[in-house]
This record gives sequence, C-alpha cells and structure tokens, in this order.
Amino acid sequence: MLVRGNSEENRLVAQRSRDDARKSLDAKQEIIASGIPSRNLMVFMKAVIGEATPRQAIKAKCQSCVGWENISDQVGNCENTECPLHPYRPYKPKA
Ligand code: SF4
Repeated sequence: MLVRGNSEENRLVAQRSRDDARKSLDAKQEIIASGIPSRNLMVFMKAVIGEATPRQAIKAKCQSCVGWENISDQVGNCENTECPLHPYRPYKPKA
C-alpha cells in the first residue's frame, strides 16, 4: 500500500510489488519483460499474471503492439480500425 508523503517508502513498496509480480512470470514472459522499458513494465506484468483491470490489460496490449516506443502518439493515432481493441485503446485524442 502506498503511503502519502513518503516517497522512499512508496518507491520500496512499488519495487517489492514489481519483484513479486516478476516472480510470477514464466520463461517466455520473462524474456519479453526484459525488453520492456521499466516505466511500462508493471502494467505488462500485471496483465500477463492476470492481476490487471481490463483497461490496464488493453493498455499493455497497445503498448506492446507499438513496441513500447512513442506510446501515447502511436496508440492514440492508431488507425487499425479492424483491431477489436481500437475503440478501447488509451491515449485517444479528445473528440
Ligand atoms: S488498438 Fe491499435 S495499438 Fe492497440 S492493439 Fe489494436 S492495433 Fe495495436
């Protein structure tokens, strides 16, 4: 649980959570995780171990789809309307 106003403790809690999630990855997932930027790793791990919300799982899939590069622009401007996740993707431009 995050503690308000204690960034060092929050950092340690987040690190412990990441370490716990990482232990739940299988070998293939671990290989994939090793190539993901740290800022995007937690949502990926939560999704693959079944602990993400549907919204987080969609975000993880879209991040993966664009190769974890320039995520908000690429996902927000995704034109693949045949993708079943397209209407639910994050970073959509405001209408
Ligand atoms: S909505 Fe676009 S970015 Fe997201 S998974 Fe589908 S094709 Fe990829």
